[in-house]
Amino acid sequence: MRPPYLLLDVDGVLIPFPDADGASPASHNRHDVVPADRSADDPVTIWLNPAHGPLLMQVIRTGLVTPVWCTSWRHDATTLIGPLLGLPPLPYVDLPRPQITTSHPNGYLWKRDHVGTWLGNAPVIWIDDDFTALDHEWAAERTALGQATTLVQPDPHVGLLAEHLVEVLAWAAQLPGAQADAANGQAEAA
Ligand SMILES: [Mg+2]
Repeated sequence: MRPPYLLLDVDGVLIPFPDADGASPASHNRHDVVPADRSADDPVTIWLNPAHGPLLMQVIRTGLVTPVWCTSWRHDATTLIGPLLGLPPLPYVDLPRPQITTSHPNGYLWKRDHVGTWLGNAPVIWIDDDFTALDHEWAAERTALGQATTLVQPDPHVGLLAEHLVEVLAWAAQLPGAQADAANGQAEAA
């Protein structure tokens, strides 16, 4: 059995929002990156915490979850963001590009309908800073149907903390079949 998915957002999770003064946390380093749809003379400045790479690798190496990017960075998360943190090329959810002016056009996170289809009935733990109450209801409904679903919601001005990943591992470890997943994952990683 495939381990549950760990869906990973980027903006507001790995790249915190600047504070009112436009400053980013001192824990984060500046990088200028060029997403695939921009020209080389038009880079985007981002801030990443170098500690996030090793923290995420610890989670990945357990084999308890299947990590997948779920971000408007799409393929650029695999090719630009992950490598800056020392992560292997992870798969990504190929999200649509809706013409929306809010991240909650229907009262819930715009990614969710696509993610729901993409998941089928697979279990998931999803880290995103932008869930609404309707998303948390969706997670509870999925869980009630036997599709274990947990949402982890960092503060977008702080981003991902070690405690969020502790929660991920604790959740994955208590799922049925988790020990076999871990053994298989570690065998594959060896
Ligand atoms: Mg976000």
